[in-house]
Amino acid sequence: MSSLFQSFAPIAAIATNPTAVRILQPFLQQSGATLWVPDAAIVDGIVDSSLAVQVYAGSLKEHLATLWENHTSFVFCLATGAVVRLIAPLLNNKATDPAVVVLDETGKFVVSLCGGHQAGADQLTRLVALTLEATPVLTGAANRANLPGIDVLGEPFGWRKGNGDWTQLSAAIAQQQLVHVVQTAGSTLWQAHLPAEHPFLFNTAPAMAETANTPTVWISEKVLSDRAAPVGCWHPRVLWVGIGCERGTPASVIASGIQTVFQQHQLAMAAIAGIATIDLKADEVGLLEVCQQYNLPLRCFTAESLQNVAVPTPSAIVAAEVGTPSVAEAAALLASQPPANETSQLIVPKTIFRAEGQPGAVTIAIAQAQQEYTDRTGKLWLVGIGPGALDQITPAAKGAIAQADVVIGYSLYVDLIRPLLRPGQIIEALPITQERQRAERAIALANWGLTVAVISSGDCGIYGMAGLVLEQLQTHEWDGQTPEVQVFPGITALQAAASRVGAPLMHDFCAISLSDLLTPWPVIEQRLQAVAQADFVVALYNPKSQNRTEQIAIAQQIFLQHRSPNTPVAIVRSVYRPDQAINLTTLAEMLQQPIDMLTTVLIGNQSSRTYAGWFLTPRGYLGFGDRPKTSAN
Ligand code: SAH
Repeated sequence: MSSLFQSFAPIAAIATNPTAVRILQPFLQQSGATLWVPDAAIVDGIVDSSLAVQVYAGSLKEHLATLWENHTSFVFCLATGAVVRLIAPLLNNKATDPAVVVLDETGKFVVSLCGGHQAGADQLTRLVALTLEATPVLTGAANRANLPGIDVLGEPFGWRKGNGDWTQLSAAIAQQQLVHVVQTAGSTLWQAHLPAEHPFLFNTAPAMAETANTPTVWISEKVLSDRAAPVGCWHPRVLWVGIGCERGTPASVIASGIQTVFQQHQLAMAAIAGIATIDLKADEVGLLEVCQQYNLPLRCFTAESLQNVAVPTPSAIVAAEVGTPSVAEAAALLASQPPANETSQLIVPKTIFRAEGQPGAVTIAIAQAQQEYTDRTGKLWLVGIGPGALDQITPAAKGAIAQADVVIGYSLYVDLIRPLLRPGQIIEALPITQERQRAERAIALANWGLTVAVISSGDCGIYGMAGLVLEQLQTHEWDGQTPEVQVFPGITALQAAASRVGAPLMHDFCAISLSDLLTPWPVIEQRLQAVAQADFVVALYNPKSQNRTEQIAIAQQIFLQHRSPNTPVAIVRSVYRPDQAINLTTLAEMLQQPIDMLTTVLIGNQSSRTYAGWFLTPRGYLGFGDRPKTSAN
């Protein structure tokens, strides 16, 4: 299964006739979905045994009820009316209902029917449409306004939802009402990429949000008291709770201790990033139970690392017992300072809590991190976008771009794929010279838990960003797993250029970049000599720039030593882009054509020829009319 569909799994697909099966087939192949059919005969001759097909008995309505609870998404190829009737009795709450997507039986349209935001149906619809080359039908107002869904805003950053009148708030936004935003914690990246015409008023003072009669998005480590106007609360997970406790303190005492401290300080339990303590407590049963109950990570530190942390309330007694003067405060501070070395702050110094009639005692301190804990495994998708035109990008690469939280690339390439971007995505377009910064930025965001698509023109792994990102990952001592890396191939410039002039690459060929920015010129010259002599067809990348004009002339001279002046040469500029220019010429005359950094130069071998305006390299050295040794195929 492609990792693109991972977040929608398990997916159930439903078809009731062979036409529907045929339409769903490419989607089934890529998504790993299970196809449910009423009769095994309808898939005969259409799907192969590698796909998961299951037959249901009895009515689809009853069968759907059994699938509903344990599937994340449903994809129907059925009339929308039928689907509406089928799912109506099962719909419960949009925070928990699965995504429902419907394909029409001509395969032209994919409709996001239900669960557009929170269940991800809009996203799934976009992906299915890309897979089937169909049109996505998204009817939510946020799509029209090019805004992120307010009820999914914090998902990329792992924020947890607090109270929210999400439907009313979304309606207010759809009606273009003014919406206050109070953000006291968490990433503000989402703010940087809004359309010009957004309804948000930022920097509203927290106190004003408590009283104002205006719809409000509250993004904070704190809770917001009840108020009249609709509000949506998101809690970035910035709070690390440092805990020290007596052996055997029950989970209930630890949990109520935490709740009490949070209430006293108006802090949101949903903003807890995790629990921090000393390694001696790594097996403390009550603590482990609390972590499990609230789905929190437990970070444990040695006494040696804890004793070096400056804390407001050190204790000599604790130092004598466990070898560090502070457990709760020091652990909270250490946990809240992840690798980036940001500063963090102890916002609640240690308090000791006991529950009446219960054994044990717990010490609690809270530190606030600058960057929220996302609880997500980041992904780095290294994506080749082909030479330029959207229809020359693979559906998988399109899916990766549409699905990523962040798209990073050189600004020209970001412009080329702009139609594939979706509302709410974080787009970082950087100048062409800043490749290493682009790679570092992508790695930092992925290490933090985001899904980042790094785009290169052509193929990402051919003079592209893939190599650079992997090199940088190595300098970070990457373990090969986290963040997950996936490379999406693209049509490279030499293929694209070749396709426009005929079949020049029909026999052995190679690519040489003439850029000596990263490779010493003598090495390049030596390679040119070797391949010219060995009669390879050659594609020259980076042939000439404003400051680098000599190299292409030297290359020409080297080839002239080994090949006829009449050898065909194609000079192909901006292929598959609006300003495409193609010149078919010869080795002797090639420098008379304009050549620049947007050009690929293809030089034929000794057998290459032109015919009726086409460039062709025969498949072998047998010459025209000679019979090949084996049958032609
Ligand atoms: N990763 C890219 C190559 C990047 S190096 C790929 O696989 O295609 C940049 C060089 O690629 C340019 O100097 C030019 O030689 C070539 N190139 C990239 N896009 C091109 C296009 N649309 N038309 C012609 N040449 C192109």
